[in-house]
Amino acid sequence: MVSPRLGTPLSPTATRVLLLGSGELGKEVIIALQRLGVEVIAVDRYSNAPGHQVAHRAHTVDMGDPDALLAIIEAERPHLVVPEIEAIATDALAVVEERGLAEVIPTARATQLTMNREGIRRLAAEDLGLPTSPYRFAQSLDEVRAAAEQVGFPCVVKPVMSSSGKGQSTVRSAADLSAAWDHALAGGRINHGTVIVEGFVDFDYEITQLTVRAIGESGEVETYFCDPIGHLQQDGDYVESWQPQPMSPTALARAREVAGAVTGALGGRGVFGVELFVKGDDVYFSEVSPRPHDTGLVTLRTQRYSEFELHARAILGLPVDTAMITPGASAVIYGGVDAPGIAFDGVADALRVPETDLRLFGKPESYRRRRMGVAVSTATDVATARARATDAASRVHPIAL
Ligand code: AMP
Repeated sequence: MVSPRLGTPLSPTATRVLLLGSGELGKEVIIALQRLGVEVIAVDRYSNAPGHQVAHRAHTVDMGDPDALLAIIEAERPHLVVPEIEAIATDALAVVEERGLAEVIPTARATQLTMNREGIRRLAAEDLGLPTSPYRFAQSLDEVRAAAEQVGFPCVVKPVMSSSGKGQSTVRSAADLSAAWDHALAGGRINHGTVIVEGFVDFDYEITQLTVRAIGESGEVETYFCDPIGHLQQDGDYVESWQPQPMSPTALARAREVAGAVTGALGGRGVFGVELFVKGDDVYFSEVSPRPHDTGLVTLRTQRYSEFELHARAILGLPVDTAMITPGASAVIYGGVDAPGIAFDGVADALRVPETDLRLFGKPESYRRRRMGVAVSTATDVATARARATDAASRVHPIAL
């Protein structure tokens, strides 16, 4: 456990935090840690990643290589190791924990369970008895066909190891299963050849229930909930999010029960993004990230403390306050072009939209569907905030020079 005494960066008293993954979410966590005088070491697989640009030290490392991960942790001797992405050698994190080299956030086991859809789904549905879509696992096209018969059509086929949306297909009839199997094999992160076949949940809306496990007044870890975040997904990628998502009192209570149960089972401290599908008063667990969530970028302006500041506080053993202070929305700015070192036109125009802020992540290379920035707006109601955020995002034009 990290000491609640905080030191001076770059001195022998420093409190050191090492981030594994330094994208746009890690960058905001790093900035929050920097503000508390923490020494931050940012690791990513490519140089000049967003978080690299705001850390005390930056390393470019293949995070799927356990030896490389261990070497960097041994060399940097951080107090905390904070994974920002799923695709890392989580076995190395278990070694770090076992040897007491550093505290892994939230725990090595949580990172192992959540990087694989099978681990987290079995924990949620089978161990905790939480409601989920019906599901089966399959390792061949024949098994996929049998699984689809059991869960019914439409169904969703996903690699068990992939980031959101990658290799995922919604299948309406048996004729499309073969294409879905091929797509899943091509889109899986590490070719494990296992897919999950899930019944399609015809939800009214989906939410991210940000849940924070932090030390409370009792001195023990307590669970805190942010206001629910609604979001819109396209091809498995979030394009818009807003807070608060209106919910019936029963659905909200159930969402918190589910989020409390699954984060309690994972343990440790920090922010968790619990993804839930809601239909009427029914809530279905979908998945959970043991770290800040992309749809939570909206909290940069809607909460007294953003999810990134809450994560920084919680992992350091400090108190949190999850209050929302205004409704708001976020809208993603995509690269639109494949090119290194792009420029952004229209920034001034975007910032003329009332109550609107921008984040440009500083990614060194743009792809057409790469998330390069986000617009975050507030308003007295969510509908106005959404209109402002999408308007502002549409005014920003990434260009290749
Ligand atoms: P995931 O990668 O599991 O987060 O899925 C990405 C998005 O696909 C979700 O946010 C949903 O919008 C949609 N989705 C995934 N699984 C299902 C399902 N079983 N039923 C309906 N929609 C789903």
